[in-house]
Order: sequence, then C-alpha cells, then structure tokens
Amino acid sequence: MRLVFLGPPGVGKGTQAAGLSSDLSIPHISTGALLREALDKGTPTGLEAKSFMEAGELVPDTVVLRLVQERISRPDSSAGWLLDGYPRNLVQAAALCELLTEMQQSLDRVVYFECSEAEVLRRLGGRRACRNCGETFHIEFAPATGACSAGSGEACDLYQRSDDSEQAILNRLEVYRRETDPLVDHYREQSALVVVDGSASIEAVSVSLRKALGQTP
Ligand code: AMP
Repeated sequence: MRLVFLGPPGVGKGTQAAGLSSDLSIPHISTGALLREALDKGTPTGLEAKSFMEAGELVPDTVVLRLVQERISRPDSSAGWLLDGYPRNLVQAAALCELLTEMQQSLDRVVYFECSEAEVLRRLGGRRACRNCGETFHIEFAPATGACSAGSGEACDLYQRSDDSEQAILNRLEVYRRETDPLVDHYREQSALVVVDGSASIEAVSVSLRKALGQTP
C-alpha cells in the first residue's frame, strides 16, 4: 500500500500514521521528521532547511524531494510506504508523480484529514514532543504518562517545537492554505482522495481511517 496523508498541520496525521504504518508493516515517512533529524545532526540538508522550518515556511522543493527519493528507494519501502507531510504543494505532487512513474510504482490513496482551523490552533498550541523517544503528546488531549519509550525508565523529556510558537503556527496555517490546500482538489480530480473527519478523537479518527481504506479492524 502506498499512501499519502494530507491535511493541515496539527490535525493528527503523525499520530495516525504511526499506528497505521505499524499495522500495515510499511514505513512511516514524515518529511518533517526527516528534516528535524537532519537539523539535529547538523547535516548540510539540515542547515539548508533550518531558517525555513523555524519560520514555518516550506523548505525548498528540491531539498525535500531528495530526502523523499532516498527514503522510498530503500529496501524497506519496496512493499509500500506512508508519506506524511509530502507533497505539500502542486510542484511536489508533480515531482512525486514523476518519481513514481520512474520507479514503476503508483499511489494507492491520498487520505485527507479534514479539520477546522480553530481546532487545529488548539491542538498545535498544546503539542509537546519528547527529546528522547521523539513521541508527540498534547498537554490536554494526550498527556505523557508513564515511562519514556526510549527505555530510560524515566518520564518523557518534553519540549515545544520551535515551529509551534504562536507566530510560526499562524504562518504555517497561512502556508497550508496557500500551498497545500489546492492538493485536495488535485487528488480529488484524480479519484485518489478519501476524506476522514480529523476533528474527532484519536480513537474515532483511527476507526474512520481504517474504514476509509477498507481495512477490517
Ligand atoms: P511537519 O512536521 O510536517 O509539520 O513539518 C515541519 C516543517 O518541516 C514544515 O513547517 C516545513 O518547514 C518543513 N517541511 C516538512 N515537509 C515539507 C515539505 N514536503 N516541503 C517543504 N517543507 C517541508
């Protein structure tokens, strides 16, 4: 199964992608996570991406395409993958289409997680991530309880992503509206789109997602 998850920042794509990719035994490929990893390691790609990410802007298309191409060419991606956060504009959608044609692969489904902007703002403002295991939590809806899954036996070491500051959030939403939202119609026209109500609880979204993909629980 080759899937793309589409929807505004903070809608819960990452949370749903983690569960589904594990159920389907396909890699969860988050371009945001790949870029953050590059940034943490101080690689040339990370340095190139830094200022764009901190401002909530899109990193240049060529930089992100390189990461995606490398990742979906690895052996563990041969049976499928779940792309979370890519493509994010029409240029990236065309690049992905071209890449898949070259690789003689095709996209099975694009899942669009629909959610109001007010709800997205509430979710992003309370989002926290763990420095050690990388898991994402929410101070209100999904608090970190118990020990960190990195195995230290301690609680998670939470922080707020620098692109989750109020100014960066507003900018990311503006970028989403302008650049990414047109992809909904693009994929609808290609009959690849399935729509899931992303404003419901994590469990309810998970059930709708599996139903939309024809997966039996
Ligand atoms: P995310 O974790 O998906 O919210 O991504 C965090 C940040 O990484 C975004 O605000 C962008 O700066 C950058 N980013 C992630 N995916 C892409 C992409 N497909 N194209 C350009 N920039 C991206």
